[in-house]
Amino acid sequence: MDDRFARTVPELAVPWQAVPAPAPNLLALNEPLAAELGLAGDALRTADGLGLLTGTVLPPGAHPVAQAYAGHQFGGFNPGLGDGRALLLGELVDRDGRVRDLHLKGSGRTPFARGGDGLAAVGPMLREYVVSEAMHALGIPTTRALAVVATGRDVHRETVLPGAVLARVASSHLRVGSFQLAASKGDVALTRRLADLAIDRHHPALAAADAPYLALFDAVVAAQAQLVARWMLVGFVHGVLNTDNVTISGETIDYGPCAFMEAYDPATVYSSIDEGGRYAYGNQPGITQWNLARLAEALLPLLADDQDRAVEIATASLSGFGRQYNAAWSSGMRAKLGLPADVDDAVAAPLVDDLLVLMQAGHVDLTTFFRALGRAARGDTEPARSLVLDLAGFDAWTDRWLATGPDGDAMDRVNPVYVPRNHLVEEALAAATGGDLVPLERLVDAVRSPYDERAGLEAYAAPAPADFGAAYQTF
Ligand code: AMP
Ligand code: MG
Ligand code: MG
Repeated sequence: MDDRFARTVPELAVPWQAVPAPAPNLLALNEPLAAELGLAGDALRTADGLGLLTGTVLPPGAHPVAQAYAGHQFGGFNPGLGDGRALLLGELVDRDGRVRDLHLKGSGRTPFARGGDGLAAVGPMLREYVVSEAMHALGIPTTRALAVVATGRDVHRETVLPGAVLARVASSHLRVGSFQLAASKGDVALTRRLADLAIDRHHPALAAADAPYLALFDAVVAAQAQLVARWMLVGFVHGVLNTDNVTISGETIDYGPCAFMEAYDPATVYSSIDEGGRYAYGNQPGITQWNLARLAEALLPLLADDQDRAVEIATASLSGFGRQYNAAWSSGMRAKLGLPADVDDAVAAPLVDDLLVLMQAGHVDLTTFFRALGRAARGDTEPARSLVLDLAGFDAWTDRWLATGPDGDAMDRVNPVYVPRNHLVEEALAAATGGDLVPLERLVDAVRSPYDERAGLEAYAAPAPADFGAAYQTF
């Protein structure tokens, strides 16, 4: 295992050790991911394997560190963030030659823990496991969960909960907040070393570009525009888009108060602490652009010697975000509606806009509805029609849409049947917390093949029952 991050930017790394787990017990192991990493599932189940997954048995070359970063949290800058309960074990090369970070969450207090206990509870770590697996299966860039190990240590929240460590894999843990910390130290050489590391990890070809740091920023803007468009198309609400939770790689990271929206409504928020709705579903593109502006500020000294010139360069690059986001969203919506390639955007755009109005007015479940539209394209409009309130509006819209000749089978390849439904996630986490892993395993199985409708899984395709409550919150 390599410790390149710690060697390259030691200013952003505090060597640290995991607190030992008194009674480690494997709750979830991602066998396909382990295989990708060249780790044998059987070996991970041994005492040494559990030691690796909880940070007490270190592979050769591993020098775990808590990463330091800064970040805007709900708009306010905090220069003193970092892994308060997490460690970067190091970097390994997977089966395909890609460098991946292996990281632990819930591994004990670090110097960045502030008032926190450094621990994680079984429920939230399993939430990250199931939701990140679902995202990966949907084809959305994300960190992956390798394993969740119960530690045998109690965690004190509102109640006493069983503790766990999540082993997480990412193409890197470089964040916007990493650059903000380097910049806040006023250390241009450090910012440059960090940018060089990011280029090498994510876009090695850019090292030879005329303006490599601008090319890096362009690439991050492009990756984030694609990413947030993908979230929007499936109704994913991240929940805490602070700049320390925005990756340079363009992978989704840090599954906290996240959820998949059911009834379509741009104002949807699940996080109990997001009182102002800053990170509501519909705000995610705008807030991502805002977060990228913070990255641009951190990179300014690398973009040009003259500050005004650097601002001009960064602004021009960032102005591409809206265009790239809109293009990704529009082409994604065209695919969700099965529109043939020759349908003009002047026809497609109002079809999309009018559909969203119908969906919002009717509190229509996004996932079920798009899947039902696939059936409508094949001639059976009733399942979709039964989901809306404004039937005349739906019929008029459907006539316009069907006139374009949508391809229902193509729609089924992009509109998932199974997303991690909030009520099922809650049920599975509660059962797992009580020792029953079966509901979690079933849910993971369902969301791992999201487009492939299977008999017997109807319950996984349906929105929450009305009594689950509209006020669902994650923390
Ligand atoms: P998050 O919003 O989950 O990205 O976390 C924000 C910051 O709080 C990060 O620096 C975390 O490492 C830290 N943190 C969250 N929970 C804990 C905890 N239980 N103990 C120590 N630090 C924590
Ligand atoms: Mg975070
Ligand atoms: Mg977190």
